[in-house]
Amino acid sequence: MSKTQPRALVIGASYAGLVAAAALRANDWSVRVIERSRERLRTGGGVVVQPRMMEYLTGRGLGIRDIIGVPAQTRKIFRPDGTVLTMPETASAYTSWDILLRRLEETLHPEDLQRGLAMVDIPDWGASGEVVLSDGTTDQADVVIAADGIGSSARRQLLPGIAPSYAGYVAWRGMVAEDQLSSDTVALFADSLSSFAGARTVILLYEVPGEDGTVTPGKRRINWVWYENIQDGQELKEVLTDTSQVTHRATVPRQMLPEGTLQRIHRTATEDLAPAFAEVVCRTEQPFVQTIDDLTIPRLVFGRVVLIGDAASLIRPHIGSGTAKAVDDAIQLAHALSDGCDEDLNCLAAWEHTRLEDHAGLAEYSRAIARRLGLGYR
Ligand SMILES: Cc1cc2nc3c(=O)[nH]c(=O)nc-3n(C[C@H](O)[C@H](O)[C@H](O)COP(=O)(O)OP(=O)(O)OC[C@H]3O[C@@H](n4cnc5c(N)ncnc54)[C@H](O)[C@@H]3O)c2cc1C
Repeated sequence: MSKTQPRALVIGASYAGLVAAAALRANDWSVRVIERSRERLRTGGGVVVQPRMMEYLTGRGLGIRDIIGVPAQTRKIFRPDGTVLTMPETASAYTSWDILLRRLEETLHPEDLQRGLAMVDIPDWGASGEVVLSDGTTDQADVVIAADGIGSSARRQLLPGIAPSYAGYVAWRGMVAEDQLSSDTVALFADSLSSFAGARTVILLYEVPGEDGTVTPGKRRINWVWYENIQDGQELKEVLTDTSQVTHRATVPRQMLPEGTLQRIHRTATEDLAPAFAEVVCRTEQPFVQTIDDLTIPRLVFGRVVLIGDAASLIRPHIGSGTAKAVDDAIQLAHALSDGCDEDLNCLAAWEHTRLEDHAGLAEYSRAIARRLGLGYR
């Protein structure tokens, strides 16, 4: 761009938004990030520390040296007959969302991030780069980056009629401190990415740091994701109904699963999982649930508004690619915008083409894995 310091407005301070903001700041853009939530989301989930993101952010001196994670040295597939297939794992480190988002936020100047402020309207289909915010003000930027997640209001406005579709199964999720588990179970899962496929469900678990960030054995936590086919309709409605009898669309947060649902989880775990996996699930105090959804869209660029991350497409979680895709969207966008882009952002046509191809390929691959695991409709 010809301006001495072009400006981006980023909507959403999660994985995609924060990486995009960091990458643009590294290229001397001025950045404002707005986030609807007043506080950093405490999802209670685990996540892989993306090597590509670390390489990029550390290489640009953005204040991130490392992110505390627990490396998984082996991948263990536990079989129903009691045998275990053990393979070396490709040096992935796992952490919690809370730790990761905190570290990403630290790459921004505090004044660059405003919480409790949402984007509510995009007046002219993105042509001017102007948006209306929830405090009644408007803002205009050279580029508006919509990183507002699965329920993206930018996507709803720019592509009305296109919405995520339920894939036919849910993920129960949770974290439990190692000191809540038997020593045999902790030893069994130590330093590994472990999985088990029961007759009706599939579970994956790995260690992440303790709540205070410690990686000392015995003080870490085990994060688990457990998939179960749930029919759309009454069965799904029951799963998504919280303690106040409110039925959610996609997730029932921690502490809000009613007693009946917790009993259901414990029953299924005991019936369908190997005992050590069942112990992990049953000793978790605050599990939560999320639907698995599919979404790909035909366009990512609307004038000066660009969709990235889960706002742009959804990848089923079996290839750990949701965050990798968000990172690639964000970093490649920053490259395209800073690499001789003209005032009309024509440079984004090539970025959009490559990213759409990538999204479609990842979506198809992750669906194929789900099919192989017997999960979902398609
Ligand atoms: C069960 C499950 C397990 C998963 N496991 C993994 C995994 O192991 N590894 C992996 O890589 N990925 C995983 N994913 C995918 C991963 O969670 C997502 O890909 C990732 O969160 C996408 O990040 P994002 O920044 O695009 O969106 P989000 O993380 O959803 O963030 C969107 C942000 O935008 C904010 N926002 C929304 N609307 C507005 C608005 N109007 N104005 C301002 N702010 C707004 C929200 O509050 C939020 O902070 C998993 C997903 C599921 C469902």
